[in-house]
Amino acid sequence: MDCCGHDQRLMPYPWRAGAMTMSVDAMLSGGTAPVGSSAAAQTAETAAAALAVLRRSISVDVHSHGGKTGITSKAPPSDDLATLMRAGSLAVACLADVPDGPILGRNAAGVLAAVRTPQPGQLYQHHLERLAWVDALVAQHGIRRALSAADLEAAHQAGQPAIVGDVEGLDFLETKLERLEEAHRRGIRHVQLVHYTPNDIGDFQTGAVTHQGLTPFGAEVIRACHRLGLVCDVAHATEATVKQALKVATKPLLLSHTALAGSAAMGATPLVPRQVSRDHARAIAEPGGSIGIWHFFASLEKYVDGLKEMADVVGVDHVSIGTDLHVTTGSLTDYSQWVQLVAAMLRGGFTPEDAGKIAGGNYMRIFRVAVG
Ligand SMILES: [Zn+2]
Ligand SMILES: [Zn+2]
Repeated sequence: MDCCGHDQRLMPYPWRAGAMTMSVDAMLSGGTAPVGSSAAAQTAETAAAALAVLRRSISVDVHSHGGKTGITSKAPPSDDLATLMRAGSLAVACLADVPDGPILGRNAAGVLAAVRTPQPGQLYQHHLERLAWVDALVAQHGIRRALSAADLEAAHQAGQPAIVGDVEGLDFLETKLERLEEAHRRGIRHVQLVHYTPNDIGDFQTGAVTHQGLTPFGAEVIRACHRLGLVCDVAHATEATVKQALKVATKPLLLSHTALAGSAAMGATPLVPRQVSRDHARAIAEPGGSIGIWHFFASLEKYVDGLKEMADVVGVDHVSIGTDLHVTTGSLTDYSQWVQLVAAMLRGGFTPEDAGKIAGGNYMRIFRVAVG
């Protein structure tokens, strides 16, 4: 039995029980009607059912850079994000600036890494520039900035796309907690502790282990996140850092973008060092956290398989969608396909209720506790 009362031995997930032979209408009504008469009818049926899920519950991409013209691109803010979110009926994107972006590159092995040492203040300056980019985005381009759960609910009700201000890696702090307070004042509500650049907070998965986990300053940062009202995201952190963070945390943590170690759905991938073990995932889930699965799969169907792999380990109450939509693409080309992703989840055997949790409900639970 996990913390949310699911006992996987007693309540097998639908994809294990052959629910795919049931039509989506039948699943919605809880009945057992036969499948639709044609493939086209079934496609229309799943699209309608996916839209119903997205109307009923707030959907959230728990880790995003907004795509090709997003916050990590050189493009100025534009209407693209709002237009594509509307097209795919995505309610909320956690839009992350990347403070160590200016020093990232491919290392000799072709893997993304910090390839230069930052100048003092350099990453802070870049972070401030990106905050200004977001200010312009929300002022002029049809996106609301949500500062509370009530803001997210109001935006969803009004059918207006919203962002949660997010930062991927607190490399800009340089041990100055007042910079975290400033980020909160500027509208940030979600922060990831580490990324690709060695910092004073803790060890990250793709770097040398120098702290043996979380540092005392890292513990202070987690307590400050709780005090200020920020979702604390431990993506990229080593398993040791995560387990030590969980000892300090008094609220559920998010691990926003990864996949299960050895994921058959991903297959061979250079992202193996960024995947997480079963134990790592269970540690996040146990106190009520959630694990976002990125979109680096060969197809939407494989993406759904990746969600199932994690749900089989931690349960559907602890899985989210954290695409990492970026300048490079994965199984989603852009947000116009969000509704197709939810339809693929329904086709793949997730119930509408479980699809709603994974597509946003689980993040909303964490956000309400962390931010209010
Ligand atoms: Zn990342
Ligand atoms: Zn990212």
